[in-house]
Amino acid sequence: MNDTTYNCAVIGNPIAHSRSPEIHHAFAQQFAMTVHYERILATSEQFDSTVSEFFAGGGRGLNITVPFKERAFELAGAQASPRARLAGAVNTLWQQEGLLHGCNTDGPGLVYDLQRLQANPDGRRILLIGAGGAARGVVLPLLEAGATQLRIINRTAARAKALVEQVQQHLPTHAARLSAGTLTEVEGSWDIVINATSASLDAQGPAHAPIHYAPEALAYDMVYGAHPTPFMHTAQAQGAARCADGLGMLVGQAALSFEIWFSRRPALPPVLDQLRQQLRNDATH
Ligand code: NAP
Repeated sequence: MNDTTYNCAVIGNPIAHSRSPEIHHAFAQQFAMTVHYERILATSEQFDSTVSEFFAGGGRGLNITVPFKERAFELAGAQASPRARLAGAVNTLWQQEGLLHGCNTDGPGLVYDLQRLQANPDGRRILLIGAGGAARGVVLPLLEAGATQLRIINRTAARAKALVEQVQQHLPTHAARLSAGTLTEVEGSWDIVINATSASLDAQGPAHAPIHYAPEALAYDMVYGAHPTPFMHTAQAQGAARCADGLGMLVGQAALSFEIWFSRRPALPPVLDQLRQQLRNDATH
């Protein structure tokens, strides 16, 4: 692969904050490959033509971020993976025999990170806070990874209920493990609590009722940053033994995209360490 330059990109709006180029360049280095990975800012009107032009120009793979994941899912049509179909969203696009294919790698990225943190979903009771795009993308992978209970709570409870009903309809075998509720319906004891809301982007996390964390429980925020998030602070105060942010999920989902495009699985820990250091450096400058 050494002599070829592969073109990849991430499309979103806004896009300047995206860490994807540095992650994929670090992956490529591991295989001495030359990957040119850029950020593309597009408007809704430009999105479809930007995707077609990218692949018509020989582009290898595209990542899709906010607000285009749903549109990317529509573009992939029948070639969207089962995970993407349940999420109704695609974050990875590629072309095969002239057809556009789409997958959603957020869920496996999260499962990878939970395993890295010694919190394998297998046999665990999981409370998932949020019912937006990110939550939708992780439900099936968490169930497939063996979660014994998955309760989805959301500020707008109707969205959590609709999500649970949709999964139960498509996958009746998982039905008994799923439930839904409001942010105050947190009864039970939880091994893993995942914040999949965008509330941590504000000064406060989601306003949920006090959560009972089981011994050794992990509180996981999909949001990441140089410092612990408000959700992580609350979790610690409520007795969570361990807290983590979503940087590992970000690297994990990127690794799966890379593997789809290049059939090579990069080593994640060095890239995660590098990114963590960059986040800290950025925060001090
Ligand atoms: P989204 O589709 O806009 O959904 C937002 C979710 O947050 C909804 O459930 C919404 O509840 C809830 N919410 C927003 N503000 C809230 C508040 N003040 N209090 C309580 N709930 C609130 O967003 P998304 O795509 O799911 O993304 C969610 C978060 O995950 C984002 O911060 C994103 O950056 C992060 N994420 C991280 C990764 C990663 O790799 N680490 C990957 C994907 C996403 P309602 O339904 O009631 O509005």
